[in-house]
Amino acid sequence: MKNTANKKIRRILFLNPKVLYRPWPVPDDFTRYFIRIPNVTYPLLAASIRDIPDIEVEIRDFLFEEITNEKYRELIRNSDIFCINAMADVIALNIEVNIELIKRINPRSVIILGGHHATFFAEDWLKRGADFIVLREGEKSFPKLIRNLVNNETDTDIDGVMSKRTADKNKFVDRTKNIENLDETPFPMFELTDYRYYNLSRFHKGYTASIETSRGCVHNCSFCTIPVYWGNRQRIKSSERVIEEIKYLYRLGIRQIGIIDDNFFASPERDFGIFEYLVKNGFNDILFGSFLRADHVIRYPELIKMAAKAGLRKVFVGLESDNPEDIDKMGKHIGSEYVERYPEIYQTLHNLGIYVYGFYLTGFPFQERIRLPRKKVADILLYSDWKPRKFTRMSDKYNSPENFYWLRFTDQRKFDLVKSMTYFLVTLDPHIFRKDSSDHLANMLYGYYDTMKHWNFYSFVEFIHKLQKNKNDIVSETVRQFKEKTIKDFGL
Ligand code: SF4
Repeated sequence: MKNTANKKIRRILFLNPKVLYRPWPVPDDFTRYFIRIPNVTYPLLAASIRDIPDIEVEIRDFLFEEITNEKYRELIRNSDIFCINAMADVIALNIEVNIELIKRINPRSVIILGGHHATFFAEDWLKRGADFIVLREGEKSFPKLIRNLVNNETDTDIDGVMSKRTADKNKFVDRTKNIENLDETPFPMFELTDYRYYNLSRFHKGYTASIETSRGCVHNCSFCTIPVYWGNRQRIKSSERVIEEIKYLYRLGIRQIGIIDDNFFASPERDFGIFEYLVKNGFNDILFGSFLRADHVIRYPELIKMAAKAGLRKVFVGLESDNPEDIDKMGKHIGSEYVERYPEIYQTLHNLGIYVYGFYLTGFPFQERIRLPRKKVADILLYSDWKPRKFTRMSDKYNSPENFYWLRFTDQRKFDLVKSMTYFLVTLDPHIFRKDSSDHLANMLYGYYDTMKHWNFYSFVEFIHKLQKNKNDIVSETVRQFKEKTIKDFGL
């Protein structure tokens, strides 16, 4: 393997890259844009390398932080290792374009990717220019990799790290090697995050942080990558550890916390204890947001009440559909009795002062049409197009573009418009409306205008239609164009 670092490695940058192209019809990472919370992994991995001497570590998030091309170029030139969380397909294209840019500006740099998408598509990412992929969880393997890079020992194999050299033998990490007790993970270096850029709610004082109190999920929904990534189990931190993290953040001035667990509220006793502690010990001015399974509202009413008392004000609920048959086919195992009670579940949360973001999934092969709920089930309802994600239980059966609903749906463009209008409303939602919302809205509208002029170029759906007709590899061509434009924009 090439020795990428003859010079001494000093500067390690955990990076959410600058967005280098205009996505359409809405920003690619829209969910994070409107939830507006920081990355939870970076402070944790930074802590895992804190005892390595002579390195500087920085966390930057250019989804929110503005930076000129000039300054971005300077930052890239002055950094040695880039660590990027490639979490999902919505950010894949931007990361790919950034890899191209980083390698042009700083060819001797090292790019490390981690996260769900990087793990599932590790070999593809290596082909697209990444140097190393940290598979699954990185607390054990990542510090070894950094230590080796600092010491110029790039030929040493590390369990859980894939490089071009090891791509054949190190395809997937045995999940049994995951850290059993999450209390043994390093205490995150929260102080490295610049919290000025985040807020869950504009109407609540204080900055916003993210915390992770557990990993994985005991359920096995057939469309979801979480069970594939972590296995069908959930490891949890102790209440003592979670409280310690919250108190630390509180001392940093944090008064809003996004709990990023895939399945929070699955350990009702622990969670009740955490919220009760906060209420009894004067930490009652924190606003919380978390994911929530709808059935937990019925199953753990006292817990939900205590959570609301402690400051739970926003929940993100995967409702998926209000048709029990759909839910069964999705393997959600939520029980039709709960699905029929979605309106009541919403009302319970609403009465407790909790704002509900509901997510519907549309486009499964067994769904005939987009279903709108007959009664109110959320304050804001967001629709996502299902696609058969790699390794999920549904992917074997349906993993071919012909099954992508948005290809079968002839009125896709109208649907995109309707969906985007929903997103506009979200942007204007008083719970998240903020000073820059109008700018954001203007940008999005401008994006529309621009897209109308260059429909073929900007519409991803259009790419797929063309691909289906086997004309050209439109996607690769467009990615190439994005890269070319970026290189030009940066004067390279
Ligand atoms: S969709 Fe939610 S409940 Fe279902 S497996 Fe994924 S994380 Fe668990």
